[in-house]
Amino acid sequence: PARADAEALQHADVAGLLPVPTASSDKYRRGVVGIAAGSPHYPGAAVLAVAGALRGGAGAVRYVGPTAQAVLARYPETLIGRGRVQAWVIGPGLGEGRGGEVAELLEQDVPVLVDADGLRGLDPEVLRARTAPTLLTPHAGEAAALLGVPRESVEAGRLGAVRGLAERYGSTVLLKGSTTLVASGGGPVRVNPTGTPWLATAGSGDVLSGLAGSLLAAGLSGPDAGSVAAYLHGLAARLAGGPLLAHDVAAALPRAWREAE
Ligand code: AMP
Ligand code: MG
Repeated sequence: PARADAEALQHADVAGLLPVPTASSDKYRRGVVGIAAGSPHYPGAAVLAVAGALRGGAGAVRYVGPTAQAVLARYPETLIGRGRVQAWVIGPGLGEGRGGEVAELLEQDVPVLVDADGLRGLDPEVLRARTAPTLLTPHAGEAAALLGVPRESVEAGRLGAVRGLAERYGSTVLLKGSTTLVASGGGPVRVNPTGTPWLATAGSGDVLSGLAGSLLAAGLSGPDAGSVAAYLHGLAARLAGGPLLAHDVAAALPRAWREAE
């Protein structure tokens, strides 16, 4: 039989994957997400990634980085400093010159999501050597830099670009844009059917990273965490309406979750 190149994510797939807590759940079993994000220039990216992680159903969120005060002012629920986590989210608002910290976290044998500035200068060999799930979440510009091609060629062939990235980096890749695509080693590329152009606003990608990190911490695979996150994020944005703020997307996640169940 012919293999489908791409397939739309179905409501039933998502419903079956949502990590809903049970009577025996505790916060550690639900997953602790580590967020390595933010810099003096971009403290908001860290706050929004934490928001996405907390509203993504994590049992706890741990923040490491220079903007802890901004994070705590908005989310006193956040734990601060290094410690055990079930997944790392690395990159939103990190700024330049933080490659050493990124490399150090990639050595840990836990699931990792890399986004935004964390994607700068990533070594394909390092990612290919990892055994825990690795999820990369570039937009077209970041994808172009990772492939070493102009942005226009990513835009012109998004399906080929996301597959090429997954192959080259040995990771799951979620390519953001007006349609979000999720690719991993084999099988068809998953196409997210939710979303709205109002998502083209500062910080919405940071919320998505935290949300997907939360799902990785709950034990979902890279492709499942990426596609469920894209689905819920798009649904939350539709529920928030427009013009929306990135923060509104995080705030609408509980309603999106109920609709997806
Ligand atoms: P970032 O580029 O990291 O800020 O992330 C932007 C987020 O908004 C991603 O989830 C994109 O998929 C989404 N997005 C951006 N532009 C559009 C658009 N025109 N239509 C739908 N979603 C979009
Ligand atoms: Mg971004």
